[in-house]
Parts: sequence; C-alpha cells; structure tokens
Amino acid sequence: MKTLVLGGGVVGVTTAYFLAKAGHEVTLLEEKDGLGLEASGGNAGIIAPGHSFAWASPRAPRMLWESLRGAETAIRLRLTADPELYAWGLRFLRECTSARARRNTLVKLRLCQYSQAVMNEIVRAEGLEYHAISKGALYLHRDPRELEAGIKKMALLAEHGQKQEILDAGAVARLDPVFEPVKDKIAGAIRDLGDSSGDARVFTEGLARIARDKHSLTVRLGTRVTALRASADRIDGVETSHGTLSADAYVLALGVGSARVARTAGVRLPIYPAKGYSSTFPLKAGGLSPTIPGVDEKWLVGWSRLGDRLRLTSTAEFTGYDWGWTPRDFSNIRSLARDLFPDAADYERGEYRACLRPMTPDGPPVLGLGRHRNLFLNSGHGHMGWTMACGTARIVADLISGRMPELDLEGLTVRR
Ligand SMILES: Cc1cc2nc3c(=O)[nH]c(=O)nc-3n(C[C@H](O)[C@H](O)[C@H](O)COP(=O)(O)OP(=O)(O)OC[C@H]3O[C@@H](n4cnc5c(N)ncnc54)[C@H](O)[C@@H]3O)c2cc1C
Repeated sequence: MKTLVLGGGVVGVTTAYFLAKAGHEVTLLEEKDGLGLEASGGNAGIIAPGHSFAWASPRAPRMLWESLRGAETAIRLRLTADPELYAWGLRFLRECTSARARRNTLVKLRLCQYSQAVMNEIVRAEGLEYHAISKGALYLHRDPRELEAGIKKMALLAEHGQKQEILDAGAVARLDPVFEPVKDKIAGAIRDLGDSSGDARVFTEGLARIARDKHSLTVRLGTRVTALRASADRIDGVETSHGTLSADAYVLALGVGSARVARTAGVRLPIYPAKGYSSTFPLKAGGLSPTIPGVDEKWLVGWSRLGDRLRLTSTAEFTGYDWGWTPRDFSNIRSLARDLFPDAADYERGEYRACLRPMTPDGPPVLGLGRHRNLFLNSGHGHMGWTMACGTARIVADLISGRMPELDLEGLTVRR
C-alpha cells in the first residue's frame, strides 16, 4: 500500500519506520529542513512511564485560576482571543474529577509501558544509539511533607507495575554524586526504576536513516502540508507547498499542526498547544553533572544529560500557537541550574527555545481512523510523546496493515 506520513517528529518517523518495515511504500512529508526539530527536538528527554499522571486533575482548575492572577503555577493559562482554547479548555475541565484523572493516568501508563517495551525491541533490533541512560528517573522533593505527598501519589503507578524506590537526601547523593554538595537542599526523591532518558532527535534521525536504507522510506523535507482533499469518506490527496500528492492511506502526525490540517477536511481534533521552554548547555569539562534524569517538583524543571550536553526544560502555558520566548521565561531553569547543578555546564553558552506539546484534554493521544476510511490519526501525545511514540506508531501501523494491535486498547480513543 502507498502511504503518506505527514510529520517528521518522533511520532511520524516511528510510524513510517513500522509501515516501511511491513512492506508499505512510504513517503514522509516534513516542512522543516530536518527531522525531529520541533517538540521532539526540545523535550526533556525523559522516557517516563513514572510521569504518566494526567494533567487534568482536581488541582488543575485552581492552578489555572491562580495563574491568571499572576502566580507561577505548574500549568498556566494566558487569555487569548482564540475560541479554540476555550472549547478545548471546557473539555479539559470536564476531565478534572478524581475518577477521570485516575482513569486517564492509568490509560496513559499502560500506553507508556507498552511503548517502552516496543522501543526496547527497536533499539535491540536496529542497534540504535541515542545517548540512552537507563538508570531510572528521580522525582525530587525539597520539603519532607511534599515528599510524603509525592510518595502517596506515586503509589498508584507502583500498584500498576512501576518499580519505585524512596530515597532520602543521602541516598540520592550516593546514587548521583551531583547532589552531594547540595544534599541539604533536598528532602529526598522517588526514583522510578523503569524510567530512562535519551535524545529524541538523535533517535528520530537514526531511525529514519535505517528506514530509508533498509526499508526504502522516502523522506521529503521542506514540504509543508497545507490541506487535505476529501471526498465523501475518503482522502484523495494532500495539498503541499510542492503540489498535490496522493496515496492509498494517510497518517496525520503533525504534532500541534494536526488540528489545523485536519480541519481542512472537516475533522475536529481535540489537540491544543501547551508551550514549554527548553534550554541545552554544553557540559563543563571536569564539572559535576547529573547522571540520572529527573524532575524537580518544586521548580518543575526536568533535566537529562544528552551525551555531552545538559537539557533543562520547564513550564506549561496555554497561550495558543505561539513559539515566542523572552529570557524571563527561563527564570525557573536558571534558578534550578544555579541551585542544584552550579558546576555542571557552561551556562553562558546555552541554546534556548520554546516548543509546543500537542495536548488532548484527557491526556492520551488520538489514534486510528477518523471519519475518513484512509486517514489514520497519530497525534496529541502531549507531555509524553517521546515516551509513547514507539507504542502508538506500532498500534497505528498495525491498524493500517489490518493487524490486531497487541495492546488492549480499552480507554483509548482508537477507531478501527
Ligand atoms: C518542554 C517540553 C518537554 C517535554 N519533555 C518530554 C519528556 O521528557 N518525555 C516525553 O515523553 N515527552 C516530552 N515532551 C513531549 C514530546 O516532546 C512530544 O509529545 C512529542 O515530541 C510529540 O511528537 P510529534 O512527532 O507528535 O510532534 P513534533 O515533534 O512537534 O513533530 C511534528 C512535526 O510535524 C511538522 N509539521 C507540523 N505542521 C506541518 C505542516 N503543516 N506541514 C509539514 N510538516 C509539519 C513539524 O515541523 C514537526 O517536525 C516534552 C515536550 C516539551 C515541549
């Protein structure tokens, strides 16, 4: 079957890999001049089933309200004139009950665990290098009461298969010496032993190379998709900056770009951007730098070591399709870097950017068929797309190939 995969982030490339490997004739379209340069190139790098918690929770509405009053909350809302934000926001608020938050968290966790298993298979089979570190991840707390609350919260994931360790400050410092000089600043951490980290962009490029060399994937960079051409229940082609292209099947994997392109065929996807800030610094020769990825639950900054660089990311802002940033947006990151990792990297030589998470109101991505028989969706991975990409790619490739996905799809928005 001739298939067009729209989008060259980690989700599009992993989907193209599975399709090409299954013998389809696959062409991938990407508007940038490289692969994995959007959200996939700016994320915190953590492959984190241990971070599967749904953002829509009973705490979220208050957080959003306080953010409107200027507080530096974990999730922030900036008022815009965009009606899409309010339609999406109402659906998000409906997911904020404790029953739905629990259900959505467990659906995400199952998908993340499956995805990690699929990713491990790919890495073993293809010998992919992507600066992987497989030592778990640390969820760090500054205050003993917050640590206690964190332990209670994480118990849900432990009950559903995540192996965890509770560490006091001394144990954190023994595990990762970067914390030895600053251990009096922390209460302890929950270590999720199943988590890991790696560079999603390097993974994406490497997998695309393998799919091109071994399975004849064609990649067309610099090709912007502007619209889908639909007739009745089929897609007949995609309009691009290089003319109209057609295939037997289409995969929509444009990250935050998916909702707008889907709308050209009358499909409404509940995907809205949540902006995050991402910075990358060269490690200092001989400096103490983190060896295990993690999240500081006070500053809400995630970190991971990507080869000889340190990636630090933070913040989730609902502010529309806006990639802008100012130095002030990196104040949490600067505070954390000064506080915990002062000697790790050359902070004068940082690369800074904003990138957009494609969020759904409930958390899990939108997968499978829309109302067109040959348009397959693989979008809306939110804050977990690096973790979920390989699993959702396999599910969508299985659906296109007419195979039953291995994962029990209950609770996921998947149409076949
Ligand atoms: C600050 C931050 C930190 C994060 N940390 C983590 C983490 O630690 N762990 C984790 O699992 N996830 C994390 N994520 C989430 C993860 O990065 C995303 O969910 C994931 O990258 C989504 O992948 P994608 O391929 O769907 O989207 P993208 O990577 O954005 O790829 C979409 C691609 O489509 C292209 N495109 C868009 N529109 C068009 C068009 N019209 N025509 C042609 N091409 C187009 C874009 O150029 C892009 O290359 C983080 C995200 C952010 C922003």
